Amino acid sequence: MSTEAVRRKTQAVMVGHVQVGGGAPVRVQSMTNTDTADVIRTAAQIAELAKAGSEMVRVTVNNDAAAEAIPEIRKQLDKMGFDTPIIGDFHFNGHRLLKNHPECAKTLAKYRINPGNVGSGRKRDERFCQMIEIAIANDKPVRIGVNLGSLDQDLLAAKLDDNQNSPNPLDVREVTRNAVVESALQSGRLAEEVGLAKDKIIVSVKTSGVQDLIAVYRDLSEQCDYALHLGLTEAGMGEKGIIKSTAGLSVLLNEGIGDTIRLSLTPEPGASRTGEVLVGQEILQALELRNFTPAVVACPGCGRTTSTYFQELAQKIQAYMREQMPEWKTQYEGVEGMTVAVMGCVVNGPGESKSADIGISLPGTGEGKAAPVFVDGKKHITLKGDYIAEEFTELLNEYVANRYGDAS
Ligand code: SF4
Repeated sequence: MSTEAVRRKTQAVMVGHVQVGGGAPVRVQSMTNTDTADVIRTAAQIAELAKAGSEMVRVTVNNDAAAEAIPEIRKQLDKMGFDTPIIGDFHFNGHRLLKNHPECAKTLAKYRINPGNVGSGRKRDERFCQMIEIAIANDKPVRIGVNLGSLDQDLLAAKLDDNQNSPNPLDVREVTRNAVVESALQSGRLAEEVGLAKDKIIVSVKTSGVQDLIAVYRDLSEQCDYALHLGLTEAGMGEKGIIKSTAGLSVLLNEGIGDTIRLSLTPEPGASRTGEVLVGQEILQALELRNFTPAVVACPGCGRTTSTYFQELAQKIQAYMREQMPEWKTQYEGVEGMTVAVMGCVVNGPGESKSADIGISLPGTGEGKAAPVFVDGKKHITLKGDYIAEEFTELLNEYVANRYGDAS
């Protein structure tokens, strides 16, 4: 039986010029961490994220200064040649900001509304509906983004009461999961009642626990055909954040659930924000849902190779291809699907190199100082001497030009 994902059918939503859902490739998006009111720094970070491959970028719109900055950020990006859609993230005061800053409402490509953070009681629905009306007037899609951490407390309390009175009560965790899904669906229905078309609605129900995430998205995708934005919230720092997000997202993506993803990774202090984009791309590429950069197949190394030379070469080749991709993408169609093997010794080196499009098998400890290169499954040349890395890079460039160039 095939293990490849069959994508769930969802509504196609246009976010600026980018289609989300409805069979479009799973989109990678990200979020800035600059003060949105700082136009130059925010535009520069959006450009950096877009360059790394973020197809949409979300910014917080938390006050008047941020709302005023949005049209200026757009102008800066346009000047720099980036048409990346900007998504506005609203909490607490979004109804007021969107109303008081019509240029902001007009410029944003999508509004993200958290129904748990728009107010309580009667005010909640009123403000939510005001924002939906502004979205309709500006022909903008909306993401209804529910978070377990900011779940509508009235709804949760009602669900818990019902559960207590039920003959077969569920555990609190399950009731909470059901409430988070119900909150998203109720808000979606309300938005539709106000007049927002189904193909203007994206839904997310983020949690910080992997099992909660899997359960709520499975449930949600059974119950609606809204386009779904996927992400684990507050995933955390470093390896832990990457692994948690990968574990949760991969299960769902492999079941065909999710039309757009964002990795909520906390960067190391001072580190670039682009890490979250690269991890998102790697997840999609590992699941064979999309290709972004040619893959480097490298062995882990073992006692048969005591030098770090092949690890360094694998790293160099990976970095080189990432650097080249913005240009390669425009010249060499399909190059992102290429595989390059960099292997440490004769045990698996020639085999893996033959399976790759182009591969090199470096000499392990005690082997003769020769590195055979394989191209399209056949031995092409044997490199020797001090410039193996440079010569292999040259061969790689030739391969890309010959295989993916216009003349191919
Ligand atoms: S290819 Fe060679 S060096 Fe690499 S892990 Fe296998 S045996 Fe070890």
